[in-house]
Amino acid sequence: MITRFAPSPTGPLHLGHAFSAITAYDMAQAVGGTFLLRIEDIDQQRSKPTWEAQIFDDLGWLGLTWPTPVLRQSERLPSYRAALERLWAMGLLYPCTCSRRDIMDAASAPQEGARLGPDGIVYPGTCRHGVPRTGPLPDGALRLDMAKACEMAGPLAFDEMGPEHAGTHDLFPQPLIHDVGDVVLARRDFGTSYHLAVVVDDAAQGITHVVRGVDLFEATVIHVLLQALLDLPRPVYHHHRLIRDDTGRRLAKRDDARAIALYRGEGASPQDIRTMVGL
Ligand code: GLU
Repeated sequence: MITRFAPSPTGPLHLGHAFSAITAYDMAQAVGGTFLLRIEDIDQQRSKPTWEAQIFDDLGWLGLTWPTPVLRQSERLPSYRAALERLWAMGLLYPCTCSRRDIMDAASAPQEGARLGPDGIVYPGTCRHGVPRTGPLPDGALRLDMAKACEMAGPLAFDEMGPEHAGTHDLFPQPLIHDVGDVVLARRDFGTSYHLAVVVDDAAQGITHVVRGVDLFEATVIHVLLQALLDLPRPVYHHHRLIRDDTGRRLAKRDDARAIALYRGEGASPQDIRTMVGL
């Protein structure tokens, strides 16, 4: 078993991160497996070395260990590019020049009706038939043609072992096309996207069990589809509950008050953190 914790160094780790990391770590430990740490820093604007250092420090303090060197997504752009080349050659990508504003305007036209997917508003398809999908991989933003991707991938399912959704989940084209839509696989600014990078890296690192919050359940569906299209092995998924604050709100990175570093500063022990998140 190989599990991983894959934080983005864009803020302090909070209790939700601790829960995710410890769950993945304990799961691997229980069967003599391996726990990996991966730094998801494709967003070079928001990623900061100080946050990365704090992540290493907090996880070490929690008692977690992991093999080094740690994989950083910012060093993996050629691998993401290779995956894009492959999807492009399959005719599954198209360049998109829409701004956020364009998408909002097109999606809120009366005949459309804006729907929210895992990445925000479901793309209304403006650029889908804009240019021929031939020649070299274009620069700029690239979207996945979801209808064509579903057709090419055929029937798909993934295994879930998290307590709330345990079982086998089938993927159906209609909800993927309607509720997820043509997601961005290469952003103009990064040359990749979260979805593509995570799928390529989970495969490259031989991750057998992906542990993540249930808020990423919809994203997992995209990842399972991409694995099929790229001929990559499909891990088992474990979506865990979210850690909420006293008012029931999900913790976010900006809730600095809940940062692990803060509890540490107040004298909490690693065991206290485990207790706080119900472990
Ligand atoms: N890096 C992402 C985050 O910090 C998610 C990691 C994953 O795919 O599980 O939310």
